[in-house]
Amino acid sequence: MTTTRFAPSPTGYLHIGGLRTALYSYLWARKNSGRFLLRIEDTDLKRNSLEAAKAIEEAFKWVGMTHDDEVIYQSQRFDLYKKYITKLLDEGKAYYCYASKEELDVMREAQQAKKERPRYDRRYRDFRGTPPEDVNPVVRIKAPIDEKIEFEDGIKGSMSFNSDDILDDFIIARSDGVPTYNFVVAIDDSLMGLTDVIRGDDHLSNTPKQIVVYEALGFDIPKFYHVPMILNPNGKKLSKRDGAMDVMEYKNMGYLPEAVLNYLIRLGWSHGDQEIFSFTEMLEHFDPTNINKSASAYNPEKLDWLNAHYIKNASVERIIEELKFFDLHIHGHDRKELIVDSLRERAKTIKEFATMAKTIIDEPTSYDEKAVKKFLNEEAIEILQQYVDFIKNYDDVMHLPSGFEHATKLFMEQNELKMKQLAQPIRIAMVGSAVSPSVYDVLSIIGRDDVIKRIEKLIRIHHV
Ligand code: GLU
Repeated sequence: MTTTRFAPSPTGYLHIGGLRTALYSYLWARKNSGRFLLRIEDTDLKRNSLEAAKAIEEAFKWVGMTHDDEVIYQSQRFDLYKKYITKLLDEGKAYYCYASKEELDVMREAQQAKKERPRYDRRYRDFRGTPPEDVNPVVRIKAPIDEKIEFEDGIKGSMSFNSDDILDDFIIARSDGVPTYNFVVAIDDSLMGLTDVIRGDDHLSNTPKQIVVYEALGFDIPKFYHVPMILNPNGKKLSKRDGAMDVMEYKNMGYLPEAVLNYLIRLGWSHGDQEIFSFTEMLEHFDPTNINKSASAYNPEKLDWLNAHYIKNASVERIIEELKFFDLHIHGHDRKELIVDSLRERAKTIKEFATMAKTIIDEPTSYDEKAVKKFLNEEAIEILQQYVDFIKNYDDVMHLPSGFEHATKLFMEQNELKMKQLAQPIRIAMVGSAVSPSVYDVLSIIGRDDVIKRIEKLIRIHHV
């Protein structure tokens, strides 16, 4: 059975690059009816891991992802790691190293003077003497000497390293007994039953070390997929400023989770030239071996484009639900369909949608000065007055755009007016500025009684 995992270090939130890796792992597990696990890599105890897990689960929930089993916290597994350290010591596959810091400094300087790669020279590997009393030893693993470490990366292909070029007898437990990163990752990945490890390629250099641990412990080595990084438009590693922020910030900015997921799956993976992927299609087509070999560039316009696409195609109920987050509650509004349908083509985000809807639904409290100056002369006020009188006496159905369209056209015909003489003054009266969706939509959303009220209010204010 395919088992994957997401193994973040606790930063207190899930950032967008992390979500991409999690999504890839999640899809691969679900596609194969396998398991997707969550592990918090919190061996550095200063960090607040429970909160970190909560933040990640909140973001998962928002995008509709779930993990299996309980969250695993590395900080709670020290006894387990110790057992494996003892095992390796007992089997002679690891050893205590008593080298002091000063000793190691001298060693490193000598290597640098000879232009050699600094590395531990295995001086305690076969030590049989009496250990010095004043040194708390570290535990080092007996790494292979001058051997090839090879694995088949699911994205990058055959990887081959010479052990002497990239590692030494690295430390698996520090002098205070705390196990080291690569050691615990290999143990956990193995004990959690992982078949496939999908992670950022910034971890590529850790993989040979982890393989050394797997082999020392006689564990099966999972399949690795090292995913190239996300770069900013200048080709640098994506930073917070570029958009590598908390996934929940995207919610606050008004992005729909399906747009974020669609954006992320395409950021580094493709299936022909298809751009839009429903969740079902993601599951159907995703395969980590098709992840791009080169880094991908973060492109905010593409995310906006996808978000606009999903807003255009969402159901009215869905949009109404999403608007609640931006403090707009229109489920009881009798023209809610019209509100949604007249704005869905214009809004790039739900936040923008809410702002636009509010300007129509709430009576304007002020009027854009420039627009007033440009469009609201004596003649325009006069026309508005005639229009309001006309509407008061026009009793045809007015809650449909076609009703207002019909009435307004008739009014213009009778008074020999053009739409451009009327449209902007009406917009100013309705929303306080000369910018709005279709005038007929706006009028219908506001409704006859309030249309009359708003026009009269504008006339009152501008007639003094
Ligand atoms: N904890 C690591 C990180 O947050 C990931 C480790 C892994 O996936 O093996 O970058």
